[in-house]
Amino acid sequence: MCAPGNAVAARKVQLATIFAEHGEAYRKNHKLPLQHRKVLFAIEACRSSTLGSHVELCERCAYQRITYNSCRNRHCPKCQKLNREKWVEKLSCTLLPVRYFHIVFTLPSELNRLCLVNQKILYDLLFAAASQTILSLAGDPKHLGAQTGLVALLHTWGKR
Ligand SMILES: [Zn+2]
Repeated sequence: MCAPGNAVAARKVQLATIFAEHGEAYRKNHKLPLQHRKVLFAIEACRSSTLGSHVELCERCAYQRITYNSCRNRHCPKCQKLNREKWVEKLSCTLLPVRYFHIVFTLPSELNRLCLVNQKILYDLLFAAASQTILSLAGDPKHLGAQTGLVALLHTWGKR
């Protein structure tokens, strides 16, 4: 049985390619907030001639190559790949040799202002609710019926 991501990985489909091929039609048929349009543009343009290029020079052998500029958008899979790999490598020393799943819990945007002034309380509640949900569902014999563990991290807008 294949792991869920294998079919997509085998085709090496890039999000930028999908946006380049279908983005314009999608934008014509869907009203998107400006921020979403910016993200679509950034991902589509990342490491293409659209954003320009720069010359990389090896100081040892003087080898030069021209490289297209990155968008550096936090939603861009190309730009975030290196950060993700570094984080996973750093974390992997403490992980068990078992299968892991990536699960995202998101607070509704209506709570954004409340979070700004009550960060500790709300983020503690988010972590408690998320971990209890995972432990409870995984422990339920109707689902996994297993004792699980988790690694949780907070990813906020605009903060590293
Ligand atoms: Zn990018």
